[in-house]
Amino acid sequence: MYILFQSFRRNAFRYVGVLAAACILLASACKKDDPEHLCGPWEYEGEFGSEHWEHLAPVCAEYAHCDGSAQSPVNITGAVPDAVLHGLDIRYTDTQTHIIHKGHTIEFEVEDGTSALELNGTEYELKQFHFHAQSEHSINGAAQHLEAHFVHQSAGGDRAVIGVLFKDGAQNAFLAQFMNNLPNPGAVPYTSNTHFNPSGVFPTDRDYFTYPGSLTTPNCEENVTWFVLEHPVEASTAQILRFRDLMPKNYRPQAPLNGRIIRHFSN
Ligand SMILES: [Zn+2]
Repeated sequence: MYILFQSFRRNAFRYVGVLAAACILLASACKKDDPEHLCGPWEYEGEFGSEHWEHLAPVCAEYAHCDGSAQSPVNITGAVPDAVLHGLDIRYTDTQTHIIHKGHTIEFEVEDGTSALELNGTEYELKQFHFHAQSEHSINGAAQHLEAHFVHQSAGGDRAVIGVLFKDGAQNAFLAQFMNNLPNPGAVPYTSNTHFNPSGVFPTDRDYFTYPGSLTTPNCEENVTWFVLEHPVEASTAQILRFRDLMPKNYRPQAPLNGRIIRHFSN
């Protein structure tokens, strides 16, 4: 029965592929989101799971860029040292506490105008940070238990995301402030006037890998400059398990580099 089901699923997505090809040939006859039943809200597993996002891209607007050639996450390997790179110019100040369970992730909203990353003379404002369990990026094949993404956006709409990996170890003092306030799926957001500085999660040594990539969730837009910090921070087993319980499998499979160069900044 299971094999039959798998076979059906494989074929179902072959049909999507055929439909996509037909749409390319008969552009006037098809438009994105048509037929509607092929396009549903994204998930990590199942019919609209991450293995299928790229196949849905040609026909579903929600997945528009997931079949691109510069997707994220990736395994970080073969990084090239680059003396032209600078240390990350992180300009974060205190923000109110505002934690939302978004369904697929736990997200901390950052107050407008409080924090930014300066990159090549352009200001990228910190909008939010959120978590994935396990990590989406790996370094030389080694994934970690958690990854936080600090999402910044410029006035022009370009994005810069800093990835922080968490390995199993000592209790993380930054996470410890919020462990009792992480909302359950569907719960109202947790808000508090307690202020904190989001940079509190970063390791002292902020060496990083950088490469051009995409959002790791649909629509997978390829306008992201990634900065994955080389040195993981630690979190306790209990902290890691708490995040994993609140947001089961929310990491996308890794994409091929397709010739992209990963550059390495080291102090
Ligand atoms: Zn993310």
